[in-house]
Amino acid sequence: MPARKTVPSDYEETISHNGHRLTPQRREVYNVLLDERDHPTATEVFIRAKQRIPGISLATVYNCLETLVDCGLAKQVNVEREATRYCPNVSDHGHFICQSCGAVTDIPIAKEGKITQFLKVPARFSVNNSEITLRGTCPNCKKSNN
Ligand SMILES: [Zn+2]
Ligand SMILES: [Zn+2]
Repeated sequence: MPARKTVPSDYEETISHNGHRLTPQRREVYNVLLDERDHPTATEVFIRAKQRIPGISLATVYNCLETLVDCGLAKQVNVEREATRYCPNVSDHGHFICQSCGAVTDIPIAKEGKITQFLKVPARFSVNNSEITLRGTCPNCKKSNN
């Protein structure tokens, strides 16, 4: 985890967590996620956002991503031992992680419903968050192996 820099207080005001307003910077960060759905890390989002807003800082990108997650516009994807990645697909879905190239791909649920409907969750356990992660070889890596 890179060290988090302090964010100027005027910016803190603009992003007021309850208002959920999309400030121009937040909108651009969100557009970065929507434009290329490859589950970028915060640093990758920063590099892409910089091409649209040259003055944007990594701290701001972290802040925007955090707010988008808070607002329910994006999800965090945690791949162990790696930086958190971000996904703008907020419907229930699984992730396929390629063990050769590290690409993360969305896998839709075959039937309508929630991931938890396909598991026998014992009574009195309440689920707040569910993740399905599949690992293997993506089509690109499969091709180059043959
Ligand atoms: Zn691959
Ligand atoms: Zn995803």
